[in-house]
Amino acid sequence: MNEKGLSEKEIFSYLEDAKSEDTNYHRVLSSMCTHPHKIAIEANRLFIEANLGDLGLFFGAHRLEKEVVRMLGKLLHAPSTDIPSGDSCESSVCGYLTTGGTESNIQAVRGMKNLVTAGKKGFEGIPNVIIPESAHFSFDKVADMMGIEVRRAALDSEFRVDLASVEELINQNTIGLVGIAGNTEFGQIDPIDKLSEIALENEIFLHVDAAFGGFVIPFLEKPHPFDFEVPGVTSIAIDPHKMGLSTIPSGALLFRSPSFLDSLKVSTPYLTTKAQFTLTGTRSGASAAATYAVMKYLGYEGYRKNVQHCMQLTSKMVTEARKAGFEPLIEPVMNVVALKVPNPDLVRIQLLKRFGWNVSITRTPRALRLVLMPHNSPEDIDAFLEDLKKVTAEI
Ligand SMILES: *Cc1c(COP(=O)(O)O)cnc(C)c1O
Repeated sequence: MNEKGLSEKEIFSYLEDAKSEDTNYHRVLSSMCTHPHKIAIEANRLFIEANLGDLGLFFGAHRLEKEVVRMLGKLLHAPSTDIPSGDSCESSVCGYLTTGGTESNIQAVRGMKNLVTAGKKGFEGIPNVIIPESAHFSFDKVADMMGIEVRRAALDSEFRVDLASVEELINQNTIGLVGIAGNTEFGQIDPIDKLSEIALENEIFLHVDAAFGGFVIPFLEKPHPFDFEVPGVTSIAIDPHKMGLSTIPSGALLFRSPSFLDSLKVSTPYLTTKAQFTLTGTRSGASAAATYAVMKYLGYEGYRKNVQHCMQLTSKMVTEARKAGFEPLIEPVMNVVALKVPNPDLVRIQLLKRFGWNVSITRTPRALRLVLMPHNSPEDIDAFLEDLKKVTAEI
């Protein structure tokens, strides 16, 4: 900092400069985020100072949060009966807005652990949860911070979790399973209904990570059971800041039952409320308002169109890539394509250096990972494939 403050002009010229170093989304095929909807940006601005960490001061922002949770609950078929009213659970579903999939996943596992260790007095040994090999790296953080063993189940040939592998990993210390509805690398959906059967049989929790898929799967033509309609599903992570077109940071965590939220409570001596069940303290009311605004504005129809657009781009990408001799690893289920190309790591670097395309690489096997988002267009795909052909021809 300087002793004396700078002028607005100096600061903004510096900011503009920094902004120009950021990648605009134009040639980005690697991100699950996109431009927020303009209505979300406006709503965000209006609630910029609202702190959901201190609910008693921000009734209005909190009301918007509860309405978002209710809308998400409806989208994800949360049971509308048998849930008592209370501060945190007065809507048809219990949950809150998080900072994204990472916080939601951490809190879901923390809830499982708290419920089990509180319920089973004298729980011995280290609790474990079973996740697919394809799970997001946020579960590495779970493993690191929670004194829980994270066991990784193998995948089948289509990159869905292998059920036999899940069953083999279950022992008396297993407290829950995780299924991914739209995995980050392949966009594949685990067999949530089958995982649900295993969870119910073993009386353990089932968390569904739909951080990306939550705003995609309900709007696909082909139904994939993945939400609270599946009886064994106990919690779901869904991110409005990805395909929900809200502002960053907007995530959500929903529970089937209020006991889950209760298990996360700590008391908050000097705030306007007595307890807090969130992971972060101070929380953005702006993202609650942004998510409320964009969901109300688009409605089911708007999101359906958004998903249709991305799925059309996806099928164009696959069809045209095939014509150029590149096969996808799997037939895409969502708007993620993993393309087999020679030497993907080198191709990625060349695409970026020479043509400004941002793409990423899947872990195993290594393939070119492309996410087709609302900011992409059919013309982008033609241009991208031309550049991909040039780059691979020279390798
Ligand atoms: C993006 C993603 C996450 C992490 O979400 P953040 O918002 O980056 O914290 C977790 N799981 C899946 C499946 C994701 O796609």
